[in-house]
Amino acid sequence: MSASVLGSLVSALNDRSIEIVDLTAPLSSTTPILELPEQFGQTATFELEEISRYDDRGPAWYWNNFRTGEHTGTHFDAPNHWVTGKDGIDISAVPEKALVAPAVVLDVTAEVADAPGYIVSRERVEAFLAAIGGAPEGGWLLVRTGWSQRVTQEDMINNTETGPTSPGLSVEAAQYVAEESPLQGIGVETVGTDAGAAHSWDPAFPCHSFVLGADKYGLAQLQNLDKLPTTGAVIVASPLKIVGGSGSPARVIALVER
Ligand code: MN
Repeated sequence: MSASVLGSLVSALNDRSIEIVDLTAPLSSTTPILELPEQFGQTATFELEEISRYDDRGPAWYWNNFRTGEHTGTHFDAPNHWVTGKDGIDISAVPEKALVAPAVVLDVTAEVADAPGYIVSRERVEAFLAAIGGAPEGGWLLVRTGWSQRVTQEDMINNTETGPTSPGLSVEAAQYVAEESPLQGIGVETVGTDAGAAHSWDPAFPCHSFVLGADKYGLAQLQNLDKLPTTGAVIVASPLKIVGGSGSPARVIALVER
């Protein structure tokens, strides 16, 4: 009997030799959001607006409208989110293959525990990728910082005397991932792919600037990266197919062999 690959996958899911890990943060009105300096437009928090709930407005059904920023909660950044990628694809045009992709996990939780504004250098990224035998073609670099333990707006943004203080990649590390690696993007636990201090760098917000400018992608506000192996996980990311959109909240799961 020849076993098909998908048949084997279903068997492995049933006997739990492949586990599904949910990397998605709960989406509610208290989900933390990015804060920009006050002169700029601001993204919206997630809000439900009840249409009916088994009442006069609809006796047998419950449903809601919702309002959200495209970049609220666990979400997918499309290339056209950034000016460097303004001629790039929108979220509805991200190819299906990019939605199912391998991932490697760079763990910097110890460094971030000591210094919340820890910046991951190009050397650190290159040494990590060399140690695991190279970056997977078309894969994600997931940066595990432990930041997803911070679930309130205040803790997530972590404003200090120097402004927002959260970890991320350096200018050179972002440029390396964008322009020299075979990776398709970066995934992080923070509200956006860049470090809190990245507003004042040159270029500002380098993960956005370089990675999206190279027609690559971002995943933000991931959780449960501690449940992933360093290599071998497969990420399934499902942003809404918003025509012309710059990104979308997404359910993001990982398949992990046990
Ligand atoms: Mn974003």
